[in-house]
Amino acid sequence: MDKFDVAVIGAGITGVATAYALAKGGAKVVLIDRFGPAAMASGWTLAGVRQSGRHPAELPLAMEAVEIWRTLHEELGAPTQYRRKGNLRLARNADEYEQIRAMVASQQASGLDLTFLPGNADVRAIAPAVSPGIVGASFCATDGHADPQATSAAYMGALKRLGVTIVMAEKVEEIGVTAGKVSGVRTSARSMAVDGVVLAAGVMGNELMKPLGVSVPIETPMVAVIRSVPIAPVLEQVIGVSGGDWAGRQQADGRLRITSGALAWNGVMDTVQTDAGPRPVIRPPLSSLREIIEKLDHLLPGLGATPIEECWAGLLDLTPDAIPVLDRVPGIEGLVVGMGFSGHGFCLGPVTGRILADLVSGRAPGHDLSSFTFDRFRDTAAGGRLELHG
Ligand SMILES: Cc1cc2nc3c(=O)[nH]c(=O)nc-3n(C[C@H](O)[C@H](O)[C@H](O)COP(=O)(O)OP(=O)(O)OC[C@H]3O[C@@H](n4cnc5c(N)ncnc54)[C@H](O)[C@@H]3O)c2cc1C
Repeated sequence: MDKFDVAVIGAGITGVATAYALAKGGAKVVLIDRFGPAAMASGWTLAGVRQSGRHPAELPLAMEAVEIWRTLHEELGAPTQYRRKGNLRLARNADEYEQIRAMVASQQASGLDLTFLPGNADVRAIAPAVSPGIVGASFCATDGHADPQATSAAYMGALKRLGVTIVMAEKVEEIGVTAGKVSGVRTSARSMAVDGVVLAAGVMGNELMKPLGVSVPIETPMVAVIRSVPIAPVLEQVIGVSGGDWAGRQQADGRLRITSGALAWNGVMDTVQTDAGPRPVIRPPLSSLREIIEKLDHLLPGLGATPIEECWAGLLDLTPDAIPVLDRVPGIEGLVVGMGFSGHGFCLGPVTGRILADLVSGRAPGHDLSSFTFDRFRDTAAGGRLELHG
């Protein structure tokens, strides 16, 4: 039987960044995914790289992440298509104006360089495509966006060079625990002995934890996404709105990528065979696309006629307080969990990967993780407040 120091379960951004940090530190690592790299949230994502609007506990992680994103392509030796052109959160009415103004004041106090733009002319000086109906906005110049597939490919290339064993299209069916300590993993095809497991399986993390008697309370709302054909440059920033019911950006290749707010998911997920292997597919309802387009036309007038190239839906792992779990599982030595990113874990990936690698290796993570503990929900029901702002 093969033996590894650590099995990382899940090849989304959290898993690949964890495997990268572990392998760079010299660990013998296996990365396992039931589908393939970026097959779920990390491929479905809008891929905003944002500090603005973060929960106070997440802000230091997001600020560090943004620094890493700046040179991540150099470190990984391949493009991530990271662009640091800012994030605007738009106010559509007086209530939203006040909410955004308060958010700016509070985040400035936490040390983030965030600006309040008090009038439409200020907003349009930065993003001329924005509607004359927008009354104000927050602007964080150091926010930005990256390309999820390029970033995933960059990490996977680095993992191969570092000698990580990569096992795709194989589902982990069981995490083995012997005498209170992780001892192995069993997939649909094989068993492996391991000293540690990092569980980065997103919305599916509980499937593997429940047989061990533990879980993280999450809800799994759905978000619809539309991607257009390439168009001439119109928008450099990521745009969000107060309330998080719409977000959008223009990709480096000219395509608009636009998301709905959180919607109820009917529980249906198909699996399709692609050239890259099996991939999960969630189909958005027509009504969600209509809403995205109506809001697009309202926020960025004239773009609603842009041809659609593709649409899909993605799932979120929403915790009761809408921030993730980054912790060792109490009572199960060697099991570390990184999940519950609640719609904003893409940006954090390079930092959470390093933190999870530290936790499973017994090193100090270098961040205060007291807000991200595993058992903080013991007496709480699911259902946090979502922050979908790119
Ligand atoms: C539409 C949408 C828009 C978003 N916009 C943003 C944004 O702008 N900015 C931002 O920062 N975040 C955003 N997010 C959130 C962000 O994409 C996620 O928080 C992040 O990608 C989570 O990464 P992950 O690696 O933890 O999980 P995932 O990417 O979901 O990866 C989990 C992996 O585990 C695998 N897996 C599950 N079970 C098993 C098993 N039993 N065995 C083996 N493998 C298994 C899955 O196949 C999957 O590949 C958005 C999310 C969505 C859906």
